[in-house]
Amino acid sequence: MTIALALVGLGKIARDQHLPAIAATPGIGLAAVASRNAGLDGVPCFADIHAALASGVGFDAVSLCTPPQGRFEQAKAALEAGRHLMLEKLPGMTVTEVRILAAMAREKGLTAFATWHSREAAAVEPARAFLAGSTVRSVRVTWKEDVRKWHPGQQWIWEPGGLGVFDPGINALSIVTRILPEPIFLTRAVLEFPRNRGTPIAASLAFGSRAGFAVEAAFDWRQTGPQTWDIEVETDAGSLKLSDGGSRLTIDGRPAVGEPDMEYRRLYARFVELVGRGESDVDVSPLAHVADAFLLGERRAVEPFED
Ligand code: NAP
Repeated sequence: MTIALALVGLGKIARDQHLPAIAATPGIGLAAVASRNAGLDGVPCFADIHAALASGVGFDAVSLCTPPQGRFEQAKAALEAGRHLMLEKLPGMTVTEVRILAAMAREKGLTAFATWHSREAAAVEPARAFLAGSTVRSVRVTWKEDVRKWHPGQQWIWEPGGLGVFDPGINALSIVTRILPEPIFLTRAVLEFPRNRGTPIAASLAFGSRAGFAVEAAFDWRQTGPQTWDIEVETDAGSLKLSDGGSRLTIDGRPAVGEPDMEYRRLYARFVELVGRGESDVDVSPLAHVADAFLLGERRAVEPFED
C-alpha cells in the first residue's frame, strides 16, 4: 500500500527537503498540498488543511511543515479526520500540546511521528553506540550559524513560539538526547534577546547529569562565514567529535563516519514503517530542554537585529 500524503506549509524546508524525500521514498506519495500562498503543478492544491480535508481528495496522512505557531489546530484537524500525522520539528509551541496530540493519535489508533531530522544524520547512531560502551566525562556543543542565510525574511522565528536561536539549537539537543547514555538536566542558561525581537539570538546553556558529567552548549545565530554544528564528547575511551550537524564522526581525530545527507529520506522511510506497524514516535525531550531554558534562563538585552 502506498500512503497518500498531504503536505501542509509549502515553505523553505518543504521545498528544500520534503518534496525530494517524498519523491524518493517507496511506500509514500504526494497526493495534495495545502499552503495559503503557494502551490505545485500536478497535485491538487488548497489554501489550508481544512480546505484539503473538506475537498474529498483522498489522502491517508498529513505532513506539517508550517511554523510551530498554529500547528496544534492543524494537527488536531488531521487526527480528528482520521489521518496519520508527521510533524516537522518543532512538533508544537509547547510540550503539553504535543503530548495531547500524541494521546489523540493513540486513542484513534493513528500514527503520530514527531520528527527530529538531525537524529537521522549519518553519524548519530554510530556515536550513540560508541558512547553506550564508554564513560562520559564532559560534553561541549557549539551550534553557530547565520540566521540570514537559513531563515531569510522569516518573521515567525522572532515571535513567541518561534524559539529564535533554539530553532537550530533544538537540533543539537535532539542529537544530545539521543546519543548520551543518560538524561541530562538544565542547571543554568543565559539568553540574549535583541532589543527589537521576542526570541533570543544567542544562548549559552549548562546541564548536569546523575553521573556527574557536565554538558555546555553555545548557540549563536550571528555567525557569518563557516558555520559550526559540532558536538564534542570526552570519554574514558577517547574524544568523540560529531560535526556538520551529525553527519561526520571522528574518534581521537580519526574519521569514523562521513556520509552524505539522507536525513529526510530516512524520516519518510521511518514514517512509512511506523504507519505500517501502527506505531507512533513522539519524544518531547528536546522541546522540554528548550522550555527549561525559557524557565531558568537569565535574559540579557543585546543590540537590535534587522534582516
Ligand atoms: P517557512 O519558509 O516560513 O515555511 C513555512 C510555510 O508555512 C510558509 O511558507 C507558509 O506558506 C506556511 N504557513 C502557514 N501558516 C503560517 C504562518 N502563520 N506564518 C508563516 N507561514 C505560515 O519556514 P521553514 O523554514 O520551512 O520552517 C518550517 C518548519 O520547518 C519550522 O518548524 C522549522 O523549524 C522547520 N525546519 C526548518 C529548516 C530550515 O532550514 N529552514 C530546517 C529544518 C526544519 P503559505 O504562506 O503558503 O501558507
